[in-house]
Amino acid sequence: MKVLVLNCGSSSVKFQVIETSLEMIEANSDVTVARGLVEKIGLSDSRLSMDTPGRKPYQEIGEILEHRAAVERVLKVLAHPEYGVLKDVKEIEAVGHRVVHGGEKFASSVQITPEVEAMIEECVVLAPLHNPHNLRGIIAARSLLSDVPQFAVFDTAFHQSMPPKAFIYGLPYDLYTHHAIRRYGFHGTSHRYVSLRAAKLLGRKLEEMRIITCHLGNGCSMAAIDRGHSVDTTMGFTPLEGLLMGTRSGDMDAAILPWVMAMEELTLSQLNAMLNKHSGLYGISGVSSDMREIEKAVGSGNHRAQLAFDIFCYRIRKYIGGYAAAMNGIDAVVFTGGIGENSDLVREASTVGLDFLGLDLDPDVNRKAPRGQEMIVSKASSRSAIIIIPTNEERVIARDVVRVLGGVMPSFSVPSNEAPR
Ligand code: AMP
Repeated sequence: MKVLVLNCGSSSVKFQVIETSLEMIEANSDVTVARGLVEKIGLSDSRLSMDTPGRKPYQEIGEILEHRAAVERVLKVLAHPEYGVLKDVKEIEAVGHRVVHGGEKFASSVQITPEVEAMIEECVVLAPLHNPHNLRGIIAARSLLSDVPQFAVFDTAFHQSMPPKAFIYGLPYDLYTHHAIRRYGFHGTSHRYVSLRAAKLLGRKLEEMRIITCHLGNGCSMAAIDRGHSVDTTMGFTPLEGLLMGTRSGDMDAAILPWVMAMEELTLSQLNAMLNKHSGLYGISGVSSDMREIEKAVGSGNHRAQLAFDIFCYRIRKYIGGYAAAMNGIDAVVFTGGIGENSDLVREASTVGLDFLGLDLDPDVNRKAPRGQEMIVSKASSRSAIIIIPTNEERVIARDVVRVLGGVMPSFSVPSNEAPR
């Protein structure tokens, strides 16, 4: 079946049409029929671009004022007689939406009903910058494709299996019971997908493996996946916590915040900008938030770029050690995301010398790893594998749609791991 996957941001809509089925999932042979992006929604020069395998990229520029109009344009282009990939939009049998925050309400993907939509709305308070746009996409698709079933796939759902000891902060407990302040974790679709693929690649059962997944892109997070269940992850109440990122600080002493606010006379929004936009690789190096630029600067002897690179990799090593302890050992470490998939230097600096954990990288294979391919980069003799798995969040969304429709995934599962109220 053809599934339309929508990922709606504040001024953008990413879309893909994926041909998939239970059999294609099993054979890992689902096909991306088209992928594209609407950018600058709300401006007069909005841009819609679409890539279709084997064809010239398509692009149009023109005013698109809101999300409904954007989804309408996407459907028109998908079914366009010349550049389109569908004879008719009726070929779309289901729509899968990326939804950032499912709070404690959703532990798996779900078919969207009015009740589910209301619950997503209730999670807006936890992700005010994301969930409202995701909801706009849901409402738009429902009004334009009224008979087509819609599904929500949450960034947070996979981590709902974490035990309370991993998700409760050392803060007054009322903050949890009154305001739902706890670790949620993000990038769940990616962590779930790459752990599954890693087990397949090794020819082992996921249910028997302890896997650490490292999603390293502009945003970075790691997860400890014990026999298929996320038991800990580095991102927290928001996607700020944990690893160093392009422009986000990751872990730090929270007492710095009131101190800096007082000393620099910062407003709350300036503080937020400092933590989310001016920190991380960019804040430390002063060069760039982009790992390629950092690596170039390191190559030309820039000390602050070197420091940013070292901090980035040191944190990954620390969490590998921590998660190995959390799971009583590891069978595999998986790298994914733009940096994880492409930077042999980061993979090497993050894992070299961890032989006491059974991790023995093959430097040659790691350096020569071809782009975009699943690949084992540890030595054959390594007790634990080091693996590259290109992530594909849209594919997971399309697959979840098929699984929920096919009844092989529960369509509504509430977390079993709540802390006492
Ligand atoms: P993503 O958010 O997954 O698209 O990843 C973006 C990050 O991947 C940016 O920091 C890029 O610099 C980084 N990246 C992409 N290609 C490479 C590469 N060849 N070497 C190092 N980093 C890369």
